[in-house]
Amino acid sequence: MSKFDYDLFVVGAGSGGVRASRIAAGYGARVGICEESRVGGTCVIRGCVPKKLMVYASQFSESFQDATGYGWDAGPARFSWPELIAAKDREIDRLESVYHKLLANAGVALHEGRGRLLDRHTLTVGEERITADKILIATGGRPWTPDIPGRELGIVSDQVFDLERQPRRVLVVGAGYIAVEFAGIFNGLGSEVTLAYRRDLILRGFDDDIREAVDAGMRARGVDIQYQCAPARLEREEGAIAVTFSDDRRQSFDCVLFATGRSPYTRDLGLEEAGVRTGAGHRIEVDAYSRTNVDNIFAVGDVTDRLNLTPVALMEGHAFADTQFGGMDRPLEHANTPAAVFSQPPVGTVGLSEREARDASRPIRVYRSSFTPMKYTLAGRKEKGVMKLVVDADSDRVLGCHVAGLDAPEIVQGFAVAVRAGLTKADFDRTVGIHPTSAEELVTLRQPVSD
Ligand code: NDP
Repeated sequence: MSKFDYDLFVVGAGSGGVRASRIAAGYGARVGICEESRVGGTCVIRGCVPKKLMVYASQFSESFQDATGYGWDAGPARFSWPELIAAKDREIDRLESVYHKLLANAGVALHEGRGRLLDRHTLTVGEERITADKILIATGGRPWTPDIPGRELGIVSDQVFDLERQPRRVLVVGAGYIAVEFAGIFNGLGSEVTLAYRRDLILRGFDDDIREAVDAGMRARGVDIQYQCAPARLEREEGAIAVTFSDDRRQSFDCVLFATGRSPYTRDLGLEEAGVRTGAGHRIEVDAYSRTNVDNIFAVGDVTDRLNLTPVALMEGHAFADTQFGGMDRPLEHANTPAAVFSQPPVGTVGLSEREARDASRPIRVYRSSFTPMKYTLAGRKEKGVMKLVVDADSDRVLGCHVAGLDAPEIVQGFAVAVRAGLTKADFDRTVGIHPTSAEELVTLRQPVSD
């Protein structure tokens, strides 16, 4: 009999922690997990899931407009923010109870409360003292906001899901995933949206053609994108927030959403007491097996700040449990992880952008297509989608696949298998397209674009 209460104790019941605990328990380990908030974590409670529901809600306005081109006259549409929030809350409650059942069915003991390490084998959760042979930290991240006067008047993504009223004028600060997604959500739901970004093009790090296509698509839908622009001060004024920008311009908004990044949630976790090393931005440093410098303490997900995506946390948690409790050898491989931005238009991407490939001094061929999806023809929508392949000129291997436009995330999920498998452009060419679809463009790109 082990001298510890548990073989594994997990701190944080989000995507990575829940997956790791269930898989480890499936191998026969005695597993406990603690959570200070709601089981399900950022993705389920205040991230990907409610966000996607709100993206769906916001897309109907466009669908109503497009429907008229197909002969529909549905009459004036009416939208109710409280009804959407209530429906979303019911779905999140349902999912949270599913997560509770998953843990219970797997035999994982849930301790409600905040976990804190006392030493490398001991934790407290509230008043309880718990010992474990191995400890996994999966506490995720928290929104971060710039230190400007009045920043407390703004909100972060955690709060956006619970606003009682729909704000009429919204300022979104930042131009990463969360910023462009919420700019699209509020815009589609009828708010006036301004997006302020300190540099010159949204979605830094994505392929430049994709960034330009999303910029154009957002502007065409009515989002006011302001570049070289950042708020310097927020002040309360009669029923609104007055924002002074870095160039001294002032504008009033009903809501200021800071989407300026997230940082690892390691504050007051007792990492120092346990001797766990942290790196830049307080992230927990781990190796390819998610091991920290303390040999019985591990970390997965956003708290390690590797690739902050839910499916990556799931993969990390699963691989950890397989290796530590399932007798397997599963180091992580983060290259060629596909990702999506549920902006409007949406983005799907996998592999190297054109710039990344060129920066690596690789000889490449680039294939690009810009086209109007068939659905937009009768709708009279002018928007063009972009599809792009970055191909290694020597091996013919497809290094990157990038799509902006209708259904991009769904399209790229499939093509990610091909890129991950190292298939060549010739393999893509041999594949017959499905007609009429947008995705068929990716197997019919014949002529590389010139440099
Ligand atoms: P990102 O890191 O993607 O973007 C942060 C944005 O804020 C950037 O545009 C950044 O500008 C800007 N910014 C940073 N600091 C400041 C500052 N001091 N003043 C003004 N602007 C600033 O973070 P997000 O918050 O959008 O998302 C957090 C994480 O959540 C992402 O890493 C992503 O992995 C994950 N996520 C994934 C989603 C998905 O998969 N669809 C959806 C939502 C989130 P600059 O470019 O200059 O650095």
